[in-house]
Amino acid sequence: MRVPVVVQNSLWQAVLGEIELSVSRGNFITWFKNTTLLRQDDENITIGVPNVFIKQQLERKYNDLITDTLRKNGAAPTKIEYKIHTALKNAASSSSSANKQQQQEETIILTPSKPALHSTVSRPQANSSTLTHNYRQGLNEKYTFENFIVGSGNELAYAACQAIAAQPGTKYNPLFLYGGVGIGKTHLIQAVGNTVMTTRPGSRIVYVSSEQFLQEFVDAVRYKKNTDFADRYRSADVLIVDDIQFIAGKEKVQEEFFHTFNALHQANKQIIISSDRPPREITPLEERLRSRFAWGMSIDMQIPDLETRTAIIQTKAHTHGTEISTNVAEYLASSVQTNIRELEGVLNQLLAFCEMRGVAPDIGVATSLLGSGQTRPKHISAKQIIERTARHFQIPMEDIMGPKRDKDIVVPRQVAMYMLRSELHLSFPKIARELGRKDHTTAIHSVEKIEKESQFDSELRDAITQIKERLHV
Ligand code: ADP
Ligand code: MG
Repeated sequence: MRVPVVVQNSLWQAVLGEIELSVSRGNFITWFKNTTLLRQDDENITIGVPNVFIKQQLERKYNDLITDTLRKNGAAPTKIEYKIHTALKNAASSSSSANKQQQQEETIILTPSKPALHSTVSRPQANSSTLTHNYRQGLNEKYTFENFIVGSGNELAYAACQAIAAQPGTKYNPLFLYGGVGIGKTHLIQAVGNTVMTTRPGSRIVYVSSEQFLQEFVDAVRYKKNTDFADRYRSADVLIVDDIQFIAGKEKVQEEFFHTFNALHQANKQIIISSDRPPREITPLEERLRSRFAWGMSIDMQIPDLETRTAIIQTKAHTHGTEISTNVAEYLASSVQTNIRELEGVLNQLLAFCEMRGVAPDIGVATSLLGSGQTRPKHISAKQIIERTARHFQIPMEDIMGPKRDKDIVVPRQVAMYMLRSELHLSFPKIARELGRKDHTTAIHSVEKIEKESQFDSELRDAITQIKERLHV
């Protein structure tokens, strides 16, 4: 074998230039931007990458594209190798502690997880009849690692989640992921569940919000089904508990969770917990539970930086079938700085506006829509939105505001909450109050549910568009 030589990067620059034209900007920034050509000889090419998840993505998803593009540029290696290159890693990641921890990650995730062999997989059985219940009980397939954009702020969380997905229960147990609202926690922990379901068919993945856990526990006690409840959770291979902060102050459920935790941990089953705050700020919380949360790995997840948010916007627009320029994406990304969900909302507003008017999403439209800080005319009130929603679904106002829980009433009520959020940007407690509800978490779940379902359910999406259109004429 010939001794490899360090080569000029001009070949790689040419390759990158072509790849940039054939993938979305978001993907380019995420996967290609910080790569370099390290070595080249007649047979082998070594590409330097900043970290292990970029390595895996290039190997699995982009290897053909890279091979073809290299060939077009006169290089025909028999083997392409992707190597983690420390200089690139330092450039791509700013915080030194993140780097240190990330290096630890690499020791266990160097073996890429097996490709998905089975598309049908068994899911934990949902056990209740209501729509909300089923939905929250399980995993949402739309959350994958592939559509998660990695950048500073979330890269450590991403690496840890990938490590866990590759080898659940072996390291980082539990994983405790915390950070502000709308920054991608649910997305990542669900991606773990979705990945394990495909790579290890037959394993039991249980995803549950802590509120759901609480509710089921209360029901189990009431209907004397404690054993069923305990069995269901203690037989999980991977237990994912989202938004654990809601168990604060709930002694009985904390105790139950403590036993569930112990049973799973002792059996080397993976536990993943998310929270909007670190364990020490969850109060009151039993000390023994708090200390267990710190047993494995805790990660403080941050909102991604501007560049990553820009990439997210461009990728999401691309998924919608629209390309938006970097300056428009950057403008949106800089106008929403704390919450990716809101950022998506702003993008959707822009795209909907452009579609309705038949104009391109350029910077002029973006600034006129957002620049005033007011995306909607001021005169629309919460009451008008609720009335318009009730009228659209042909139900009386007192029903939408009242206690009825029939599906015909619940869905319009959830849509009304969603509209109050997307049109008036009201806080969740305020949304709850406007609809005569005491508990603001109902508003959170309603908004999330409608947001998610409207992506799949075209009837629901049409209803929302029609209600919006009526509001603005
Ligand atoms: P959290 O659970 O932290 O409140 P979510 O996981 O629900 O936040 O994320 C909010 C929305 O933003 C979701 O639609 C999610 O898919 C999207 N999102 C967040 N971070 C990213 C990312 N890095 N790449 C792509 N989408 C993201
Ligand atoms: Mg969440």
